[in-house]
Amino acid sequence: MIVCKFGGTSVADAAAISRVVDIIATKREQQPVVVVSALGGATNMLLDIANKAAGGELLSALQLIEQLRDRHLREARALLAGSHDAEDVAVEVGTTFDELAHLAEAFKTLGYLTPRSLDAVAAIGELLSSQIVAATFRARGFDAVCVDARDVMRTNDFFTKAEPDVEEIARLAQERLVPLVLQNRIPVMGGFVGATAARVTTTLGRGGSDYSASLVGAAIDATAIEIWTDVDGMLTADPRIIPGARLIERISFDEAAELAAFGAKVLHPATIAPAVQRGIPVYVFNSRNPAARGTMIAFDAPRLPVRAIAGKRATTMVKLRSSRMLLAPGFLRRVFEVFETHRTSVDVVTTSEVSVSVTLDDATNLGAILQDLAAFGDVSVSPRAGLLAIVGAGIADGSQAIAQALAALGPIPVHMASLSATGINFTLVIDDDQVVAAMQRLHATFFEQTP
Ligand code: ASP
Ligand code: MG
Repeated sequence: MIVCKFGGTSVADAAAISRVVDIIATKREQQPVVVVSALGGATNMLLDIANKAAGGELLSALQLIEQLRDRHLREARALLAGSHDAEDVAVEVGTTFDELAHLAEAFKTLGYLTPRSLDAVAAIGELLSSQIVAATFRARGFDAVCVDARDVMRTNDFFTKAEPDVEEIARLAQERLVPLVLQNRIPVMGGFVGATAARVTTTLGRGGSDYSASLVGAAIDATAIEIWTDVDGMLTADPRIIPGARLIERISFDEAAELAAFGAKVLHPATIAPAVQRGIPVYVFNSRNPAARGTMIAFDAPRLPVRAIAGKRATTMVKLRSSRMLLAPGFLRRVFEVFETHRTSVDVVTTSEVSVSVTLDDATNLGAILQDLAAFGDVSVSPRAGLLAIVGAGIADGSQAIAQALAALGPIPVHMASLSATGINFTLVIDDDQVVAAMQRLHATFFEQTP
């Protein structure tokens, strides 16, 4: 069994959903369970509708409801024309949006929204997309069954970011999904959506469909999880900065997590942790380019000195010099307490005999922080710093990578350098306006030269 998850762009309209059917047609032997997002953009629109209604703009909420209704009906009609299910799906879409219009009126009257009612509205996108996709499979001759995610994804009642009950999900998936697969049928389930034990609708948080896919994969002990999106996979650098960035064929979970922390947005590794921890490989594929090889994210990947590079602009660097106190026991604790007090998390840290340097992502409370730090010694700030991350599980294995990285930077000044004990991310702090040039130099050195 495998889990194939299709994101919003992969089910955005009739043409995209047709591609999903073509992709799944090639996977029949692997016994797929299909998890789908809402039609691209639908979740945003649903939340917008709820907020507008509660904010008193009932008319524009109702207009948006009609737009979204029309969109679902139009795409469903294009996919299901003449099929058995066409009528049923149209009725279901109609009823759902009629109910939403009533809800909107109620929100308008109340003048506020609860997280619970937000989830009831947000879930509509996946509940409908899964029915449309399942009916499309049937129209194309596949025996597909729409499974209501609320019958499988058991969560607690932390509405808008509900936490899964992994054991219950495993039990329910064995009960509801596995028998279908064993009968050679294709279960199609909405991602993102869940329900409490009392069957109140919940959601797993924005972007939660990857999490759903990973939880289902772990629950049915899938041999692979495929995340189908609109890019070829993870790349060796952000292609907006490095147009020649290359596809990464295999990456370890830890490396992917480091890159995500630097803004690689293909998927958030935390959402695939349940699967990766069980040894299930996760693939990222492009539904517009299914022939591309994609990226495999696994617990382990062959150790490379450098797997990818990333940059982050607009960080703040704070340096504290204190010849008197640095070696005194408890000094660093007291310094870091300042950041804690002002609820600011520290990103990179380096120390020397007489100084501590840190970078901060969020400089909102910088003024107060500097005031408190002044009690310890001389403080200086560089408000325009940038970060470079050179990520690779083998970077500290005695390769030349670190020397090469520093050499590649040439004249670009380095203000801080940090290599963790696990040696997976060599981080450098440079000037913000040098980040792009530095990334170009590093990428050329590590990925554009034949050794
Ligand atoms: N449709 C949901 C969202 O837009 C979940 C997802 O697509 O992953 O957040
Ligand atoms: Mg997504």
